[in-house]
Amino acid sequence: MEFNSSFKNKGHIFNQAVIAFCLVLSLSVILGWILELAGILSIIPQAATMKFNTALIFLFSGIILLLSEKNNFGSKPLYKTLSYLIIFIGAFTIAEHLGLSIVSIDNLIIPDELTAKNPGRMSPATAICSILIGIGFLADLSSGKNINKVGLYAFKFTAILSLVAIISYVLLIPLSSKSSFFKSMAIHTSGLFLLISTLQLFNNSNSSFHQIVNEDYEGSKLTRKILPIIILFPILSSFIFILAINQEVISTEFGLVAYAAVFIPLSIIYVSYIAVGLNKSEKERRILAKELEDSNKYYLKRFQQGVDQVSLIGTLDTNLNFTYVNDLFCEVLKYNKDEILNKNISILRSGHHNVEFYTDLWKKVESGEIWVNEIKNKAKDGSYHWTLTAIIPFKNEKGEIFEYMSLSQNITDRKTAEESKGEYLKKLEYKNKELEQFAYVASHDLQEPLRTVNNFTELLAKRRTDYFDELGLKSLQFIQDATSRMSELIKNLLDYNRLDKDNILTKINCNQLVKDVEKDLSMNIKDAEATITYNNLPTLMGYETPLRLLFQNLINNAIKFRKKDTKPIIEINAKLNGDEWLFSIQDNGIGIPTKYKDKIFVIFQRLHNKNEYEGSGIGLAHCRKIVDLHQGQIWVDSINDEGSTFYFTIKIKEHD
Ligand code: ADP
Repeated sequence: MEFNSSFKNKGHIFNQAVIAFCLVLSLSVILGWILELAGILSIIPQAATMKFNTALIFLFSGIILLLSEKNNFGSKPLYKTLSYLIIFIGAFTIAEHLGLSIVSIDNLIIPDELTAKNPGRMSPATAICSILIGIGFLADLSSGKNINKVGLYAFKFTAILSLVAIISYVLLIPLSSKSSFFKSMAIHTSGLFLLISTLQLFNNSNSSFHQIVNEDYEGSKLTRKILPIIILFPILSSFIFILAINQEVISTEFGLVAYAAVFIPLSIIYVSYIAVGLNKSEKERRILAKELEDSNKYYLKRFQQGVDQVSLIGTLDTNLNFTYVNDLFCEVLKYNKDEILNKNISILRSGHHNVEFYTDLWKKVESGEIWVNEIKNKAKDGSYHWTLTAIIPFKNEKGEIFEYMSLSQNITDRKTAEESKGEYLKKLEYKNKELEQFAYVASHDLQEPLRTVNNFTELLAKRRTDYFDELGLKSLQFIQDATSRMSELIKNLLDYNRLDKDNILTKINCNQLVKDVEKDLSMNIKDAEATITYNNLPTLMGYETPLRLLFQNLINNAIKFRKKDTKPIIEINAKLNGDEWLFSIQDNGIGIPTKYKDKIFVIFQRLHNKNEYEGSGIGLAHCRKIVDLHQGQIWVDSINDEGSTFYFTIKIKEHD
């Protein structure tokens, strides 16, 4: 259980002031009774005194307020005991007033020698207020709404009773005859009751007083402005008029007429003044609201126009029948509005999705969530359409779904493209595999008859003198050359085919790689007196053996296709180009005619015959495959007779 309502805004200065005031005043009065200081007991001479029991009630109240303020749950028994004591003192006093009590509690602790009638006894009004605030304190402990309400009423009554007591007290001062129900409630008693009850009402967020005083609505503003005047003005003016009447400065009739004559116009002026201000702010608020509504309407309209252009929109009732569709919806799904309205959404089912797909869809939507997915629909003419669809449920204030909206994007083109791309890729993969297998089988199986031809020509060559004349011997030599060349070609073909298999991506230092290639080609380099320069080549992620083959082929070609009487000068460079490395290998060789720039990368394509320059025409085809493997490109820039620059790129991998 908690102190559910009181003193939620801890540290509030008003709370602390009231608690302090309550404790100081009650203790002073207790002291006043003990030391018989009449001045403290009744502030106004001859007026009612605050009784000892009343002071006790305020002391208890002060402690209760302090416990609430500190949220001191450990002291709940104390809080309750004190509340019950307050009720008990009040109830007992009432019983005494009614003559129902046998024992008197009036002078139980300190005897009252100052009061003539009923010494030491609190007034009935004070006793009633005590019972009320005691009930209020107890009700504050409860979390039950109804009990809490009872507490609020108790404090409200206390506030009204004490306010009436104060008003009558003030107004009775000028009068000589002072007899009333409230007469014997001391002014500090009624003041303290008013303060405590107002404080409790002010702090209890369930109380209408709290709401009226604290909220930011016009009514609260009006109340805040008017309340002090309504309370203070009549009290003050009545006080002055009664005083004037009593002193016989004015007659009673004149006093009453003058009171009405002053009160009514002044009230009208004040209320009109406040009303003008309120009207002005209300007018401004209405203009702003209208402006906001207009601009919202405008934006909403433009928004809808935009969405209508790109989206298929439909709304459905809870039976999933269409209640609205836009033009694009009709255009794509080939229905007239009349044909689709009131029809169930299942009319669009294409048969592509299984039952679970739809079950999941509606399960999600009915739980209040928005469903988004791609869905294949069937149009009226039987054609199929893919849409990216969001189905949005709309709920009323009770949280019940009353409508669904389907918002779709036509993605048929993309889906068709995706589907055909997928099919094309599958076909391509299949063809590639077939081709690979064909190349392997062909090259592998060709080796066998070739070996037989080779063996027999060798056998024949051994006995050549017996069987062959000059022409025969030459022919034999041609056959031997051709078979070994064919064997070489087949070997190359097998190598080419095997190139992208079983490669592992590793970190490669290209400077080191080129250095190793230089070593492998050292004989060629030496023979040709070639110079190779390279600097600051990068370290990158790649496939080592293929990359080595790539540099080897390109450097080898640069040496091989040199100009007669010119020493080859080869320069290798690399630079970062976006997300790839761009390499260049420049030579001063024979160059390549522009028209052959692409042809040279095709397998077995050569520009020279074998007698001029050794080779099989597979080197650059290899190079292109290796560069492909690294998601790059290869090309050549060349001026015939001046030299060539081969360029290739290597895509940077994450670990570079
Ligand atoms: P191969 O070197 O065995 O002939 P490649 O595929 O390596 O086969 O080269 C294909 C052809 O491209 C060569 O025959 C040659 O005509 C031409 N070529 C290659 N590299 C160069 C170069 N650096 N300078 C001039 N021509 C070249």
